[in-house]
Amino acid sequence: MDLQHSHIVGFFSLPSQAMQSANPTAYNTAISELRKTGVQLGSCAHCGMGIIHHVVVKDSAGKVHGIGTSCAEKIGLSKEAIREARNDYTYDTTPEQRAEWKAAKIKREAAQAEYDRLMLAARTKRLKARRKVVAEVYAQLMLIGSNFSESLADQLWSGHSLSYRQAECVCKMLSTTGRRNKKNAAQWDAQLDLCTTK
Ligand SMILES: [Zn+2]
Repeated sequence: MDLQHSHIVGFFSLPSQAMQSANPTAYNTAISELRKTGVQLGSCAHCGMGIIHHVVVKDSAGKVHGIGTSCAEKIGLSKEAIREARNDYTYDTTPEQRAEWKAAKIKREAAQAEYDRLMLAARTKRLKARRKVVAEVYAQLMLIGSNFSESLADQLWSGHSLSYRQAECVCKMLSTTGRRNKKNAAQWDAQLDLCTTK
């Protein structure tokens, strides 16, 4: 057969094994639809290898053949033409399948959106709770009013924890003596803990 002078008339992929086990009826419908194209399914008309993706070509005698994408290039068809055909999916699906897939896609997207919404709500809730905990330290740091104290305050307010060194600086800044002693030990340790908690 002379495939050299054939031109692309379509493209389809075989329905997946997953579809075959999940929905045999849809799978069989898809296969019988594909058979109507007159293309031999599952093997390349050029090299005989098993294929999933079929570039459908019509030869000079008007007969259609399915060939693999790499063989399509070998017989002289351009990459662009093959890609275009692939995007066309001329024989790929029945309207019912397309509707089914579209509905499934909408369902998937809705589930994803719901998941994102819940995650955002959980994050917001966590941040709110964290802000309640750090509010007092935050306010005190802001009152000191240095760039350093404010940047640490911002870190805490945005939900981040501080490094041990940073937390120590907070304790120093917020204590009257600048060091841990018997009198302020409990408060010092509590602040250290609070600032480094993740
Ligand atoms: Zn081939």
